[in-house]
Amino acid sequence: MKTDIKLLENGKRLDGRKYDELRPIKIEAGVLHRAEGSCYLEWGGNKVLAAVYGPREAVPRHTQNPLRAIVNARYNMAAFSVDDRKRPGPDRRSREISKVISEALENVIILENFPRASIDVNIEVIDAEAGTRCAGLTAAAVALVDAGIPMRDIPVSCAAGKIDGQVVIDLGKNEDNYGQADLPVAISPRTGEILLMQMDGHLTMDEFNQALDLAIKGCHIISDLQKKAIMEKYQKITEVK
Ligand code: UDP
Repeated sequence: MKTDIKLLENGKRLDGRKYDELRPIKIEAGVLHRAEGSCYLEWGGNKVLAAVYGPREAVPRHTQNPLRAIVNARYNMAAFSVDDRKRPGPDRRSREISKVISEALENVIILENFPRASIDVNIEVIDAEAGTRCAGLTAAAVALVDAGIPMRDIPVSCAAGKIDGQVVIDLGKNEDNYGQADLPVAISPRTGEILLMQMDGHLTMDEFNQALDLAIKGCHIISDLQKKAIMEKYQKITEVK
């Protein structure tokens, strides 16, 4: 991370946000017809689609677990989603993000209900502006609910970080590139259990605690938006009938 660009002007961030203000978020459930469950999410300049398939027999068969389902989250960034065209296909970064999202989801899905099955979660980032793993996990959670997959809770994700010595919520693109730290977090909002936590950059113990508090605060705000999106979908179905 470079630190030579000024990211705070009179206490305000370059896009005018306060330290604890999220970028605008829009969530829509059930947007794809072929998938069992789906979600479209816009978060600042991020645009993300999530599609859930399964539970279905896991293939190849050696991946099956006789006692529970496996979760295959596949995060992919479209070549056109970033300024410099991204080379298509999986890379080290997308494998890492797919792995941490799969593990976060495995902790809330009731896997024992579906021995030998796989639950496949496709996350496509079509426009990227920092925080795509949080956006992807948040969209995946709504798509899982839309697919009727039993879960102990609806997981949700948000990041906090540090720019120009100040701890702030939900880093934008320049803040992510030129800031001092980024701390993406995912939680189960009902229990407060942490499902994902990664850190890029450096924070003191105090700053870390502040950033964690802010990220969790963001998670609770976004959790309400997830529930609203799910309720809106069922409202639409009731109206059509
Ligand atoms: N990014 C990019 N090209 C890439 C990977 C990432 O331009 O190949 C940008 C993209 O906007 C992404 C941001 O860098 O959102 C931050 O990436 P990071 O690895 O920190 O993950 P994220 O914050 O998206 O979860």
